Amino acid sequence: MSVFVTGATGFLGKHVVKECLDKNYTVIAAARDQEKGDALVRQFNNPNLSAVSIGDLEKLDAFDETFKNHGNHIKYVIHCASPAKWDIYSYEKDLLIPARNGVRGILESIKKYASDSVENVVMTSSFMAIPDFSKMGDNSITFNEDSWNPTTWETCQTDPLNAYAGSKTFAEQEAWKFYEENKDVVKFKFSTVLPSYIFGPQVFDTDVHEHLNASNETINQVLHATKMEDIQPLSTQFCSVKDVARVHVLALEQNNLSGKRLFVTSGAFDVQDILNHLNADFPQLKGNIPVGTPSKGIEINPPGAVIENKRTRELLGFPLKSLKQCVDDVTKQVLRHEGRL
Ligand code: NAP
Repeated sequence: MSVFVTGATGFLGKHVVKECLDKNYTVIAAARDQEKGDALVRQFNNPNLSAVSIGDLEKLDAFDETFKNHGNHIKYVIHCASPAKWDIYSYEKDLLIPARNGVRGILESIKKYASDSVENVVMTSSFMAIPDFSKMGDNSITFNEDSWNPTTWETCQTDPLNAYAGSKTFAEQEAWKFYEENKDVVKFKFSTVLPSYIFGPQVFDTDVHEHLNASNETINQVLHATKMEDIQPLSTQFCSVKDVARVHVLALEQNNLSGKRLFVTSGAFDVQDILNHLNADFPQLKGNIPVGTPSKGIEINPPGAVIENKRTRELLGFPLKSLKQCVDDVTKQVLRHEGRL
């Protein structure tokens, strides 16, 4: 029996595939087209991995062929695919519709063709589906696994980040609604993983390029900055890609994680915290990158609303990686690629 992983060609998806293969699962990876799927299979070079092409997520029948042809071999599904980019032309076409249709389509295909074989489905949502961003400055408020971003389809279409937050919120709501309406007719259990901003190395050094995926590009930008003006301000929550991949696979395996929103976050950071770690840990960067104002870091004492995932941490029972580990892992890989390590 296999694990079907969507978004397998992406930054997180490759870590999820690796985690599954490391645990000796057979994996069927979904790629947008066969060329990308074949390239993924060549990269892993593992007989337990095969790939199928699904086209674009916006097509509600994107997963029909896969579940018609392979459904009776698929025991677990990890739905990781969703647009995660900001250089877009249309909020609806590039973000909102593929995110929502992707999850609706895969759940409908499982129901139609594999309702007896699929036992567990895990969907990648996001921290962006949790808070009311207009209240992030209010330190009397707590956001946790019970919180939902109150955005609407119309109000989220102001800028790419807001629209992305909407896309994750509506997709996750769509999935829980489907599950509630169908849990008596499908066999599978369901849970969602909500990672905050994900840092971590690429699975393969060959995936390191001048620019990295959207979240790691923050570290990449800081480690190549020569002055503060080169660095885009950013303060948010972070987590490690290795922890996030591990949680996806554990959620397939452990009954106590079913039916849950698993909020994976290690804590808060500001780009100043990244500078602080880089200046402390990489002598070859010292003097090239700015120092900024070290005391402006927020890692130890974050301001504003309380962001908390105590319940998820208790369920998981292992410590989540620190900012220093994440920053150092990414930086080492980039510096190795540039011959500077
Ligand atoms: P990524 O590298 O861009 O991966 C996204 C994956 O989804 C890719 O395999 C991509 O295929 C596929 N995909 C996107 N839009 C598609 C579409 N319209 N049709 C078909 N396939 C499509 O991004 P990532 O950071 O790994 O994100 C993976 C998941 O984690 C997403 O659900 C994202 O929302 C979630 N997440 C990410 C972060 C983060 O900080 N990175 C934080 C929280 C949650 P192509 O390669 O062909 O485009």
